[in-house]
Amino acid sequence: MTTGLFFPTCAIFFSILLNVIYFSKQRIKNTENKLYRFLVVSNLFALIFEYACTYFSNNYIPFISDVVLKTYLILLLVWISVFVIYMIYITKKSHQILKPFWIGAISVFTIAILIFPISFEQTVYGPTITGVPVNVVYLASFSFIIIWMGVCFINRGLYFNKKVIPIMVYIVLGMLTSIIQKLVPGLLLVTPTETLVTFLMYFTIENPDIKMIEELNIAKTQAEKANNAKTDFLSSMSHEIRTPLNAITGFSEALKEEPDLPERAKEDINDILMASESLLEIVNGVLDISKIEANKLEIINSNYNPYKIFNELITLTKSRIGEKPIELIVNIDQTIPQVLYGDHTRVKQVILNVLTNAAKYTNSGSITFTVNSLIKGEICRLIVSVEDTGIGIKRDKIDKLFDKFERLEEDRNTTIEGTGLGLAITKRLVQLMHGELIVQSIYGKGSKFTIAIDQRIVNDVKLENTLELNKTFMTEEKPQLNKKVLVVDDNKLNIKVATRLLEDYGLTVDSCYSGSECLEKTNNQTYDLIFMDDMMPKMTGTETLHKLKELPNFHTPVVVLTANAIAGMEEKYLSEGFDSYLPKPIERKALDLIINKYLNNV
Ligand code: ADP
Repeated sequence: MTTGLFFPTCAIFFSILLNVIYFSKQRIKNTENKLYRFLVVSNLFALIFEYACTYFSNNYIPFISDVVLKTYLILLLVWISVFVIYMIYITKKSHQILKPFWIGAISVFTIAILIFPISFEQTVYGPTITGVPVNVVYLASFSFIIIWMGVCFINRGLYFNKKVIPIMVYIVLGMLTSIIQKLVPGLLLVTPTETLVTFLMYFTIENPDIKMIEELNIAKTQAEKANNAKTDFLSSMSHEIRTPLNAITGFSEALKEEPDLPERAKEDINDILMASESLLEIVNGVLDISKIEANKLEIINSNYNPYKIFNELITLTKSRIGEKPIELIVNIDQTIPQVLYGDHTRVKQVILNVLTNAAKYTNSGSITFTVNSLIKGEICRLIVSVEDTGIGIKRDKIDKLFDKFERLEEDRNTTIEGTGLGLAITKRLVQLMHGELIVQSIYGKGSKFTIAIDQRIVNDVKLENTLELNKTFMTEEKPQLNKKVLVVDDNKLNIKVATRLLEDYGLTVDSCYSGSECLEKTNNQTYDLIFMDDMMPKMTGTETLHKLKELPNFHTPVVVLTANAIAGMEEKYLSEGFDSYLPKPIERKALDLIINKYLNNV
């Protein structure tokens, strides 16, 4: 064997090993890997050609020897081009490869190699190729490296990491090789240098392990499944809790109106109602937080009247303050447009939360509820602030305020009920609505919570007269309506509660346990109003409603009466065709509104 082949022989073992290692593992198909794969393979081919070149130089065969020698040079040219493309690809932020430029450059250099004649010399170490084509390869390498340096210069400040090591090695070794080649021409060092650089790259290239990615994906899917199972469990749990809660509140409401009830019993019933309300708040809070964690909480926008919401909030806060010596001061900007577009349920929820907290954590003094607006084009920024003269929050505790299940000074607030979920939910909801929430507080003096939310202004839309809607019956003056209603629910207890509440209005209440029974009943007789549960086995309330609507001459209004009471459900049910939505547990006031709307038209 010619001595000059010593280094290529060593290199070929390395190269074979590298090919085996590289191809024995599945790789991600990204540009980086594709380029590297080409380098690994083309380097092995170049090494094999190195042998062929030595053979055909020693045993010159016209044309065939030229083809072999030139192919070898073209292989070197392509290797260096792809190598520099790879380096530019990882250096440049935009990760763009100027394909036409490279194709053009490689073509020009290849043509030069093909056109110019090649020659070789015999040295003590063996034959060596010379002539213009060899210089073309040197020129190409040199200019490509300069281009890479130019790219580095333009993109300076970008990351210089371990991935750049191979090109540094290539530059240093390239220069050394050129000098050695000049001094000892027969030593074949160029291709082994490339093998060394390719080998180095194996350790610097980002090589995400497919197996690890698969395992991570499986773990991710499992975690997502577990999280979904948790959300599903929480939502079904909240649904299940609502049903007995419906019975507790429903019967308590009905009992409260019994005449001749002893004072003590009345007080007890009020306590039961308040406790149920708290339980419902907790259930809703847990449901909201689980939805937030599962990224399933959506903002559902529609047109609404902001004044209606402010009125409701004032009423709710007053009842929350109860007997406490607290003055509720209200300042509402009257220039706020009548109709806004946004998620009114969530807007109300976030404001109610800070108002409720103010009522909870203030013992005496005042709560100032201010709503200002800032109108810019078609956007109305609602700036809501709630200032209290309550217990205040320590400066270092303000950051913890929004952590879920975090309650400050539990020991001091033992008598105040809460779960520590309210502000965590509020903050997330405000973020989802692209708003802001700011807290200012002086410990021992009071706190101020400011919420800013942008809502779209809706012109030319008239909402249902809210005053009309707010007209409810006073308990004492419930009209005795001579109407017939049907309650459809698969749960006996729910039917009992609804019947008990509806009979108070003097209504004749009929009931059934399934969608098919409902269809049968409505076929035989007419009702003035139907209350329909949705989640029923075999045929859901929604399916039953669709079937009812197919019946000729069916005009009875249908109200969905459901424990599926999470945000967005009302809109969903109304779009399915229900006339109204009544969540369980049934609130007397909400029921009043429905009866008033559909049956009190005499
Ligand atoms: P919860 O009221 O159910 O405990 P929140 O998330 O609404 O939960 O509030 C978290 C904590 O922040 C409360 O436990 C309370 O310590 C503190 N906090 C909230 N609002 C006020 C306020 N207006 N004044 C004083 N402390 C407050």
